[in-house]
Formats: sequence, structure tokens, C-alpha cells
Amino acid sequence: MSVKVTVIGGGVAGAELIRVASPSPLEFTLIEPKSQIELQALYPEYLGGLAKLEELTAPLRPFCDRMGADLLNERALRLEDNTVVCDKSRVGFDVAVIATGAAQNYFGVRGAEKTFSVNTLEETSRARRFVEEKNPDRVMIMGSGLTGVETAAVLSESLDASIYIVEARDRVLPQFSLQTSKLIEKALAKKGVNILTSHQVCEVKEDCILFADGICLDCDMAIWTAGIKPPEFIQNLSFPKKNGWILVDPHLLAKDGVFAIGDCTWVEVDGKLATKTAVEAERQAKHTARNLTRQAEGKSLERYSVRASTDSQVALISLGCDCAVGVVGKMCIGAPTRLIYSLKSWIDRSFIRRFKV
Ligand SMILES: Cc1cc2nc3c(=O)[nH]c(=O)nc-3n(C[C@H](O)[C@H](O)[C@H](O)COP(=O)(O)OP(=O)(O)OC[C@H]3O[C@@H](n4cnc5c(N)ncnc54)[C@H](O)[C@@H]3O)c2cc1C
Repeated sequence: MSVKVTVIGGGVAGAELIRVASPSPLEFTLIEPKSQIELQALYPEYLGGLAKLEELTAPLRPFCDRMGADLLNERALRLEDNTVVCDKSRVGFDVAVIATGAAQNYFGVRGAEKTFSVNTLEETSRARRFVEEKNPDRVMIMGSGLTGVETAAVLSESLDASIYIVEARDRVLPQFSLQTSKLIEKALAKKGVNILTSHQVCEVKEDCILFADGICLDCDMAIWTAGIKPPEFIQNLSFPKKNGWILVDPHLLAKDGVFAIGDCTWVEVDGKLATKTAVEAERQAKHTARNLTRQAEGKSLERYSVRASTDSQVALISLGCDCAVGVVGKMCIGAPTRLIYSLKSWIDRSFIRRFKV
């Protein structure tokens, strides 16, 4: 009898799992409300007009048809035993894989939810339309993680405006090494980006940002990149969690018969905590595809090993169309170079090409 595997979320992790596992005797159903796979890594470039829509999206229906998987274009609401309850339908499963990604976190800052964001394609498109139509003079980007840094760099090239990047901690990219932060700060400053570290945003008003020290800075476009949180579906699950994320075991199992992979999880194996990156989402997807096959063959599950961990990051950080920086662990690869930019550009674009006919 064939095993019914239901994958919830068709982003980097969910789509990659189905791609790698196919062809297979497993019967896949993908539940995803969007009609396409979207690559977040290219959103900043799309915002700045450096990437085309077709470079960061791939239609899901033809992909699923080729893989022999069923596609249900609905949002999963909750799990009830071995059933996923969606907007309109209910889908039974033998094994489920949760891969619903992460949602933007506004940390309760007043007015922040009205800002622009680059966390979804819909939001990024709204921001792009605003940039094209209103040509803002002063843009404030709140949050200096990877998304904030890449957005600031791209906009400094594509817009004739004052670009500010705002960070509550004392350096940009605080999750990376001091050396990486210094290098990125220097590169951003060279591009004319104004860096405001140790600045805590208190409120986002219609035309200015209010900081905790009482200072108010004018701005005509505010972009929020300051954090992520588990999406609603994860919040509604009564599974073991850590900081709200699904806590998985070393086999990426949340509980018997339910795997969880990608951004929605807390993956900590052998003392290494996985970063919420496409690099990790993709590896976890490939690992789970192998484990699903092993499980169906009656073999034992293999343990996962984290590659890009919080204390040893792996990242290519794009700084616009002329340069990017490579980070492997504590090592930051040289000065920003065009070669690394080309490598990142090729990796991102070829990821999406895999899902096209
Ligand atoms: C602007 C930006 C730039 C980035 N750049 C990089 C980078 O350069 N390198 C890197 O490694 N990482 C990067 N990342 C992080 C990377 O994109 C994520 O780590 C990766 O997409 C995680 O994959 P995922 O499958 O877990 O989530 P996603 O790719 O977000 O996919 C989740 C999917 O689940 C679906 N979903 C959500 N809720 C439900 C529901 N209830 N029912 C059904 N489906 C649902 C969503 O519609 C979505 O399609 C970046 C992120 C952003 C926002």
C-alpha cells in the first residue's frame, strides 16, 4: 500500500522536498495557497528593479504535475489527528511535513504594521510600486539583518534618495561576526547608506520615525525588516515548541508521523542551532526526502546534521549589482567582489529554474 505524504507549504523547503523525492512510490499532496514557488532571496533585487518576476518565481501546478504530486491551492488551518483541515477541504495523511516558513514580526511597535516589508512577494511588489510611483526622498529601513542590509544596498543603487538603515544593537548584522559587520558597514557607507546603530524604534508615524530617546526623523518610506515569528498555522499547533517554533528531534520529526522543516522549526542537533536560511531549508528538505524513502522501505531514520548554524553562519550577502560578500563560519571572504555577486546571482536564479519545465 502506498504512503500518503502531505506537505504543508510549497516554499523553498516544501517544493524542494517534493522535487528531490520524485519520482517515488510515495503519494504526495502539496497544500499551498499561492500558485507559485517564490524565492525570497531575490526580493530585495526585485524591489530595486534588478531581478525580473520570472527569475524569482516558478508556477506550482506544472511542477506538481511533472512530479506526480497533487496540489491543493488552499491554506492549512490546523491538524486534527491524521487530517489537515484547510479553508475548504480536509486532507488525510499517513505522514505530514510542515514547511510553512515564517511571518514578519513587528514586536508590537506602534505603526510598524503599516510600513512596507520585503517578507512576501505581495508586500515587495507593493513597495516596488510605491518606489516607482512616489519616488521617495528619504527611505528608512528598520532592521539590519540580511534582508535589511541587502534592501539598503539595492535601493542605494536604484533610487536617488537618502537611505537609512536603523538597528537597535550596536552594529549591523549583529548575528554575524564583528569582522563581517565592520566590512558590511564600510561597504554600505561607501554606497552612501546612512547607518543608525543603537537606535531603538519606538513608533512609526505617517511621515517620521520616533526613537526611544525622543528623537523623531522624517521619512517618506518606512520598510520593516526587523524580525520574524512563527506563522499563524504554527501558533495554532499544540506541538512541543521552542520560542514559538516547532521543536524537532535530530530526525526532524515534530512527533510520530509529522516532520517539520525550514524556517518554521527550531532545529538544534549536537549543540548546533540551524539558521533560518534557504541554505538550511534546502538541506533539511533533501534530508527529509531521503528519510521518507527510508521509512517507506522499513529502514531506520538518519540523523540530521546542521550546516549553517547560528554560531557558524554560511551566507552570500548581496550588496547590489556590483558586489557581494561571502561568509563561512567566522571567516568573511575578502573585500566585497563582483565574483561573489555573480556566484550568488547564479545560485539564486538556478534554484528557481529547477522547478520549471
Ligand atoms: C528578503 C529575504 C532575503 C533572503 N535572502 C536569503 C539569502 O540570500 N540566502 C538564504 O539562505 N536565505 C535567505 N533568506 C531566507 C530564506 O528565504 C528562508 O530561510 C527560506 O525561504 C525558508 O524556506 P521555507 O520553505 O521554510 O519558507 P518559505 O520559503 O517562506 O515557504 C513557506 C511557504 O509556506 C506557505 N504557507 C504559509 N502558511 C501556510 C499555511 N497555513 N498553509 C499552507 N501553506 C502555507 C507560504 O505561502 C510559503 O509558500 C531571505 C529571506 C528574505 C525574507
